[in-house]
Amino acid sequence: LNRRLAEFGTTIFAEMSALAVRTGSINLGQGFPDEDGPEEIREAAVRALRDGRGNQYPPGSGVPELRTAVVEHQQRRYGLAFDPDTEVLVTAGATEAIAASLLALLEPGDEVIALEPYYDSYAACIAMAGGRRVPVQLRPKDGTYHLDLDELRDAITPRTRLILLNTPHNPTGTVLTREELAEIARLAVERNLLVITDEVYEHLVYDVEHIPLATFPGMRERTVTISSSGKTFAFTGWKVGWVTASPELVAAVRSAKQFLTYVSAGPFQYAVAEALALPDAYFDGLRAELHAKRDLLSTGLAEAGFEVYRPSGTYFVTTDIRPLGGTADGFAFCRELPERCGVVAIPNAVFYDDRAAGAPFVRFAFCKRTEVLQEAVARLKGLA
Ligand code: PMP
Ligand code: GLN
Repeated sequence: LNRRLAEFGTTIFAEMSALAVRTGSINLGQGFPDEDGPEEIREAAVRALRDGRGNQYPPGSGVPELRTAVVEHQQRRYGLAFDPDTEVLVTAGATEAIAASLLALLEPGDEVIALEPYYDSYAACIAMAGGRRVPVQLRPKDGTYHLDLDELRDAITPRTRLILLNTPHNPTGTVLTREELAEIARLAVERNLLVITDEVYEHLVYDVEHIPLATFPGMRERTVTISSSGKTFAFTGWKVGWVTASPELVAAVRSAKQFLTYVSAGPFQYAVAEALALPDAYFDGLRAELHAKRDLLSTGLAEAGFEVYRPSGTYFVTTDIRPLGGTADGFAFCRELPERCGVVAIPNAVFYDDRAAGAPFVRFAFCKRTEVLQEAVARLKGLA
């Protein structure tokens, strides 16, 4: 393994899901639902396979039906207008979109500002692209995580090429506000930066609104917006994601994508096109269901003795384990948790350069059936 990648090892998600299987624990670690998405969308995938749609190499940008569906979704939800032929790129999940965007846009030595804690692939992909990550920490305060805009401003240097944003934010569940996004947009314009914004949890917001960065003045032409069908439709195994951006930026990202996967798998693209056209009732229902699960798990964790940072979005609740009185090391805690009570979680320290800052925080996923969450809470209450 080369030096660029050596520091990253195996992703925490693979490690913790393997631990869950080995110990028969409830897996609240890796974020994937334990119930699949809509039956009619699964049927659409089967139909595409059967009818021979997408069984041979689809177009590099993605099948036209899906590109059009992405454009209609952005228009309907956010009033954003994109051209399906030049401003949309279908990718193998958001993961490939992140990798291809960074590989396409960074020169060696370029600095990338990323919110810390950051999703693990960001650091690895910045490294693979020869860039340098510059973390700006979201800090816990009064039960939620906050971005300090002064810190963000101070992190920008002449070497800064882009900001890699993530809202709703994994793992903290923070959803950036209109004011925060407006200031980020203002800084990006003023300092002539690009922004890659990972909005895979765009539909998973509970008491607040998700506002795409691309809707702010001056941002339409300097933002690469990334999303994916994994979370929105509960098909994390399908790996259908997409990028929307200006023709120049999409062409750049496509230049990298063509040598990573060439094209993305065909039949699922047709099914996701149908999914994006589902009525608002689908999206509202998903949000309501996850909202209730967020409340169930957050309340249960608080009752079990954790300090809980109540998330406004995503699949995840971040907790501080220190009030439990045992170890203050989230890694040690997560490695022992299956044996102690049959539950798996993720230590947030893996999402930090500043490991000490992340040490006492542990993430639990609530994208599981209600009875599974209830059982997990009962087990966690036995810890005290
Ligand atoms: N970004 C974030 C913030 C995520 O949590 C995930 C995990 N779903 C991804 C990207 C990757 O998405 P996909 O499964 O579509 O590759
Ligand atoms: N995004 C999911 C999470 O944060 C998992 C993705 C992965 O396994 N790489 O849990």
